[in-house]
Amino acid sequence: MKALFFDGSLAVKEVPVPEPKEHEVLVRILYSAICNTDLEILKGYMGFHGIPGHEFVGEVVTPGRKLSGRMVVGEINCPCGDCYLCNTGRRTHCPDRSVLGIFNRNGAFADYLVLPEENLHSIPDNLAQTSAVFTEPLAAAVEIFQQVHIRPAQKVFIFGAGKLGLLIAQVFRLNGCNYQVLSRSETSAGKAESMGINAALISTLNDTDKAEVCVDCTGSPEGITIALAHLYPRGKLVLKTTVANPDMIDLNQVVINEVEIIGSRCGPFAPALRLLASGLVDPRPIITATYDFGDILQAFEFAAKPGVLKVLIRH
Ligand SMILES: [Zn+2]
Ligand SMILES: [Zn+2]
Repeated sequence: MKALFFDGSLAVKEVPVPEPKEHEVLVRILYSAICNTDLEILKGYMGFHGIPGHEFVGEVVTPGRKLSGRMVVGEINCPCGDCYLCNTGRRTHCPDRSVLGIFNRNGAFADYLVLPEENLHSIPDNLAQTSAVFTEPLAAAVEIFQQVHIRPAQKVFIFGAGKLGLLIAQVFRLNGCNYQVLSRSETSAGKAESMGINAALISTLNDTDKAEVCVDCTGSPEGITIALAHLYPRGKLVLKTTVANPDMIDLNQVVINEVEIIGSRCGPFAPALRLLASGLVDPRPIITATYDFGDILQAFEFAAKPGVLKVLIRH
């Protein structure tokens, strides 16, 4: 099969079709999407070498299984199922896990992938594949609500109007809270506004503008500092960005203001699929371009350009 392979540089290669283990199934990829994590992997994140890609829609082609012939999306963490963390409801933190296209497991930028069948969710018939491919990042947005009680009467700032910020904002919008997306770029703020999302430029914030909950999804090391500066005492700071620079965080402010910091990563697929299928979250305006798999190297070049949101790959 054809696969995008990263071993310090990116190339499309001919590789063997992966063999599913007993509890796994073979999935033929129909759509995949480029995530910031993929762009970070190319810079050395997680030291990953292999086939990247963790956002996908595909068809289960292994015969005789519960999901055979079904259109599916897949959870990316593959835990051991048997350790202390797995047995205490923290499977996405299993120390022996592999992660699709990120750690110890080949991913979705290929004709086929294998995943444990239990990781897969069949997509509702009425859901377009180009929307379903957003299930994984939308689940990450939903995870915030699994972790933090957002009260509808509260004020929330979401820093960053990128791919993830625009999904997170759509989920906050449903909650009824007084949320605002803050961006450094006029184009991004305008894009958010065009989607019916409350948005403004970070530069318009005064020192006294504060929120009860600040979410950092800027993908930049300074994001956390800015978010912290606009948080009320005893407020909650939710971090969705993995590039935070610890040297830039003034932990004295965390102590003095009794701030709660919540790290947030992968989330539940079922609610994300419900939000997409019902149309309550519409990811389609976030798609900047769709490339054929044959042009995936150009797709990666394009995805790294400033202002580009989601780039889909048609397999
Ligand atoms: Zn992702
Ligand atoms: Zn485990």
